[in-house]
Amino acid sequence: MTLRLFDSGTSSLRTFAPLRPGHVGIYLCGPTVQAPPHVGHLRSAVVFDQLRRWLQIGHDLDVTLVRNITDLDDKILVASQAAGVPWWAWAARHERAFADAYRMIGILPPSIEPRATGHTAEMLTFIDRLIARGHAYRAGGEAGDVYFDVSSWPDYGSLTSQETGTLRGDEHTDQATEKRDPRDFALWKSVLSDAATGTASTAGAAWASPYGPGRPGWHLSCSTMILRYLGESFDIHGGGLDLRFPHHENEQAQSRAAGYGFARYWMHNGWVTSSGDKISKSLGNATPLDDLLQHMRPLDLRYYLGSAHYRSNLELTDSALRAATAAMRRIEDFITRSTNHSRRTADAEMLPVAFRNALDEDLNIPTALAVLHDEVRRGNTALAQHDARAGADTLDAVLAMTGVLGINPRDSPWDESTATPPHAERAVEALVAQALNQRAQARAAGDFRTADRIRDELDAAGIVLNDSESGTTWGFTEGRTS
Ligand SMILES: [Zn+2]
Repeated sequence: MTLRLFDSGTSSLRTFAPLRPGHVGIYLCGPTVQAPPHVGHLRSAVVFDQLRRWLQIGHDLDVTLVRNITDLDDKILVASQAAGVPWWAWAARHERAFADAYRMIGILPPSIEPRATGHTAEMLTFIDRLIARGHAYRAGGEAGDVYFDVSSWPDYGSLTSQETGTLRGDEHTDQATEKRDPRDFALWKSVLSDAATGTASTAGAAWASPYGPGRPGWHLSCSTMILRYLGESFDIHGGGLDLRFPHHENEQAQSRAAGYGFARYWMHNGWVTSSGDKISKSLGNATPLDDLLQHMRPLDLRYYLGSAHYRSNLELTDSALRAATAAMRRIEDFITRSTNHSRRTADAEMLPVAFRNALDEDLNIPTALAVLHDEVRRGNTALAQHDARAGADTLDAVLAMTGVLGINPRDSPWDESTATPPHAERAVEALVAQALNQRAQARAAGDFRTADRIRDELDAAGIVLNDSESGTTWGFTEGRTS
């Protein structure tokens, strides 16, 4: 029951022990809502959804997962002005698109989903603290920017194991020229410096401050929301590999320079790639989600996104999507065929040891999936051999494993789109039970013609009977249900 995670802060596998026994605090850098989501955005959400489920189900931990929304940055300002709508309307529209996409692929809702712009007052307090401790400075006179002073923090670069002298500046947030050092990054961005550097008009995107009207920097917003919702020290900080530098390096530097312990473990997920390149809006290689979902169900997409090791890249190809769809169908077919054996609960005690061991070793999903498919094969063999007990045990294990992976077809949201409505299922169960009863009576009376006729009629309806010493069970005939 020991969970080991690869801590990308120390580049080592470490035994995971939460700060507070029984509880885990996770912060996941959420989307910048400048455009609708593409498949690349959803991978990070799936990876940390799997981690969360494993901590909850496999380790009985109470997880607080904070996933923020960056609802204001330069890209949102530029895109909203080009579209002729206020930045907040632009952000809200895409925030809803992300929420819809997360829900559609079965991501459990975060415990808290804070928006960056709701924390401006706290960010100003954070800046004051950094200035008072000698780690930030004002530039540009009365109304100016505030920067983090990288040279004041010798630990800078430690997260990404870089020599700070060779680090480049921060392209995401900084255009200003008044920095003392190109590595310094903006904590507060003045409206006036925006005007001077030609950034899109910030009308309606400025707050009063001791440093003149402006808005907080992106990195600072995450550090502030972490402090607010998870405290000075917390367990796991997650995000995509591309966020390690400069975003996470800067988050860690400013939080630790402010005197806080910050993240105890870092986890970074790989990308979705196309021909080896990261899928991104800026590279123009991102297939819109709607296009993908014309060819596959959200459950199949979820399977695909959660099928690789989280630290590996996941190549997006037609054949990979087809393979994911086929694999998901094999699991569903088994569950459907053995439906009347179900105890209907995904009990952690039913998880095979090999599955547990795989997830405990840095969430080894490929190995866990291999255990799942082995179990499905075993279950199909049990059904073919009319071994009702083995079939039921296997079904329980399969339901428990798919529950951990977020692909149990009977769980929300899949049950709405893939399962038979409960009233129809109950009606089928009652009718089949009645037919089995009549058949048993016919056999008891030696009327084998009637018994065979009932079996044939059920077979024609897609229902297969398995007679064994312990009685008769039934399932759906393979192939007729999908
Ligand atoms: Zn962040």
